[in-house]
Amino acid sequence: MSDVRIDDLPVRDELRGKSPYGAPQLDVPVRLNTNENPYPLPEPLVERIAERVREAARGLNRYPDRDAVQLRTELATYLTKTGKYPLGPENVWAANGSNEVIQQLLQTFGGPGRTAIGFEPSYSMHALIARGTGTGWISGPRAEDFTIDLAAARRAIAEHKPDVVFITTPNNPTGNAVPPETVLALYEAAQAAKPSMVVVDEAYIEFSHGDSLLPLLAGRPHLVISRTMSKAFGAAGLRLGYLAAHPAVVDAVQLVRLPYHLSAITQATALAALEHTDTLLGYVEQLKAERDRLVAELRAIGYEVTESDANFVQFGRFASAHEAWRRILDRGVLVRDNGVPGWLRVSAGTPEENDAFLDAVRELKKELE
Ligand code: PMP
Repeated sequence: MSDVRIDDLPVRDELRGKSPYGAPQLDVPVRLNTNENPYPLPEPLVERIAERVREAARGLNRYPDRDAVQLRTELATYLTKTGKYPLGPENVWAANGSNEVIQQLLQTFGGPGRTAIGFEPSYSMHALIARGTGTGWISGPRAEDFTIDLAAARRAIAEHKPDVVFITTPNNPTGNAVPPETVLALYEAAQAAKPSMVVVDEAYIEFSHGDSLLPLLAGRPHLVISRTMSKAFGAAGLRLGYLAAHPAVVDAVQLVRLPYHLSAITQATALAALEHTDTLLGYVEQLKAERDRLVAELRAIGYEVTESDANFVQFGRFASAHEAWRRILDRGVLVRDNGVPGWLRVSAGTPEENDAFLDAVRELKKELE
């Protein structure tokens, strides 16, 4: 049996020879590789989750609320409060992580015979989910400094006429935000070319110096903003992502969602977390301060750093990023090699974790000189 491999199975041609996505989950003292929030949930929230889950458990003989109305209402309230733009539950859709939101969007607006574009390097799951949904992937350009070169991006959209345009802001793994004017110009280009859906992935927006692009939704039914509770809410283990868009988009993704995709336990846990929004956003402020400290100290040590609006920082340059990654790991600190030649990415951790990281890269700098 063990001599049968994936490629011996009748798997789809586009999956042959491919590896699954995933950062190494290594057991090292300091793990700063997956942009998680380093702070465990506060104890009062843990208690509230237990209460709400106990309550939900009493009804587990029944399927959950298929439309997750209460959760979507609370998410809309959160977005309205923080996003400077009024939204109701009809504007919001939720799924198991924003990865599932993106998958549902591609199942709805992409698929066989259609294409999606992203400006790379960017979040690699956009391309992988495109492949998984049979959507053709177009690797759009980015400038040398990792900003989006508007003229080149417009040309790529006009040439390929993609059905879905991904714009990640703040971008992962580079950390920089995309100016609202650029997003607007790309939206216009996408409408002129097709018209296509424009998905703005705001997974890290709570860490940004700037505001969410939610107000741009006004009068733009082809715009979708995707968000997550994995980063700012410190709840990566919860698996809760969501989107904000015109109600027609919310209706459209329901054509592809699996019935009862969001378990009663997930909905109860997310509702508990949303009750503690203010405390959780307090951690965001600490992390932003630590992120700014990482940028300043990395520069002081002599590294190049990409401007960051996220909870992570891209730094370099290395003759071999992989070799540098390994030497940092030898010092007990796990960062991320995203395959961007010359650059590595570090997530902002607790002050102690960041100190350990800075000590490691200070030593590395001396070693490399
Ligand atoms: N978008 C971006 C840009 C991300 O970096 C991530 C997580 N690494 C996600 C979406 C997915 O997050 P989740 O599925 O946990 O919501």
